[in-house]
Amino acid sequence: MSHAAQPSASLFINGLPVEGQGAALAVHYPYSGAVIAHLREAAATQVADACAAAACAQPAWAALRPVERGRVLIRAAAIIRERAEELARLETLDTGKPIQETRVADWPSGADALEYFGGLAPTVTGQTIPLGGDFVYTIREALGVCAGIGAWNYPSQIACWKAAPALAMGNAMVFKPSEETPLGALKLAQILTEAGLPPGIFNVVQGRGAVGAALVADPHVAKVSLTGSVATGQKVYAAAAQGMRHVTMELGGKSPLIIFDDAALEDAVGAAILANFYSSGQICSNGTRVYVQRGILTAFLGRLSARLSGVRMGDPLDEATQHGPVVSPAQAERIRAAIARGQAEGARLICGGPGEGAFVPPTVFADATDGMWIAREEIFGPVMTVLGFDDESEVVARANATPYGLAAGVFTRDLARGHRMAAALQAGTTWINAYNLTPVEAPFGGVKLSGIGRENSAAAIEHYSRLKSVYIGMGGVDAPY
Ligand code: NAD
Repeated sequence: MSHAAQPSASLFINGLPVEGQGAALAVHYPYSGAVIAHLREAAATQVADACAAAACAQPAWAALRPVERGRVLIRAAAIIRERAEELARLETLDTGKPIQETRVADWPSGADALEYFGGLAPTVTGQTIPLGGDFVYTIREALGVCAGIGAWNYPSQIACWKAAPALAMGNAMVFKPSEETPLGALKLAQILTEAGLPPGIFNVVQGRGAVGAALVADPHVAKVSLTGSVATGQKVYAAAAQGMRHVTMELGGKSPLIIFDDAALEDAVGAAILANFYSSGQICSNGTRVYVQRGILTAFLGRLSARLSGVRMGDPLDEATQHGPVVSPAQAERIRAAIARGQAEGARLICGGPGEGAFVPPTVFADATDGMWIAREEIFGPVMTVLGFDDESEVVARANATPYGLAAGVFTRDLARGHRMAAALQAGTTWINAYNLTPVEAPFGGVKLSGIGRENSAAAIEHYSRLKSVYIGMGGVDAPY
């Protein structure tokens, strides 16, 4: 079967597919390395065109009744659900993630966001503030043109998570997907257009970091929402500050998953697997530091090894495949270097190993210590580090001793301890007896170096709008002279 996935053009500007005038960008199916599409980056003038088109179209979009804007988003969600299989297949070709994941996680989560924010749009209102005669009312208004910049692990979900609240609030967006996975955002542009979105409200430019930098610096851009690494986040946040632009930063992490000796062991092992190996480990919130209380450490490692020995690796388009390649051979090489570093540091490799090509099998290190590089740095691949601990206060201190703070997980049957841990852990999200569930209804985002702002939930509305105060004088004006 052909895996060709060539879009009609590389960019989408002002309601139309447009060919890029910049450098060539080949799109590979990570499993085979085959080129599935030939794209071109946006030239600097095309980034400017997209931002100008967005700025021109945005006021009329913002002036619609919110229920009309919401209806477009809800219609787009319905189209996504109708085309679920075609979209899952495209996502698998673009990312290399198993189709059994892309059918349930990627576009479906994007459709949830479009539905959620489509429904929320008409409920957003201001306040009236009485002043004993005079009064103030507030208007929550759109920011204008928002730039969205995506990572390669959940390309379509990221595009939807950013576009849905932005568009619901009356903004326009120019979105730049990751250069590794550029196809899903173009589909989203097409689907939104079919759903009735006016030209210019959702635009897509393609390219590497320099195109992202040009987008962030465009004078029309009022807000930048980035999903990416901490290093990129620091650059983009600094660049956005030049224009005092609003930012949302969804960045990396090295999250702790803490398993107490009273936990349901099979559930904890299952969560550790999901927290490290889903999407071949390419998930920002992964619980890659797995702290296991010493009394159950041997049993935990035994069950983990047994369950991992059954993993099915192969072609991600095969629905039996549970573990696919990472996004590229270059990324696999970086992960291999991390594995070699863990071995050199003296951690004990109990499963997995370097793999070959773009494949890295589920890999587990035991006998690790907190100071090791593999226990401190985000690897963004299928590599779990297991660390032993003795008691609660010790593990809280160790879990928090990191510059990151995206997520944390706790497995225990002790209700009071679960809540104490949730309060003590420095993380944007803490799961108790669960891991990596990110429903659209719940806020998601990091603390410390893992980011600023929140996606999903009603909280996201605040990050795509600003408040205007309108003061109404009801009496005369009493000037002193
Ligand atoms: P990356 O930082 O290399 O790239 C992210 C995006 O930024 C890409 O589109 C890239 O082209 C663009 N970019 C690079 N330099 C830029 C610049 N100077 N100005 C503007 N844009 C620029 O990240 P990646 O390797 O694609 O993704 C992996 C990282 O993303 C991991 O650290 C992961 O934890 C993080 N991530 C975070 C979340 C979250 O929600 N917190 C979700 C997914 C991924």
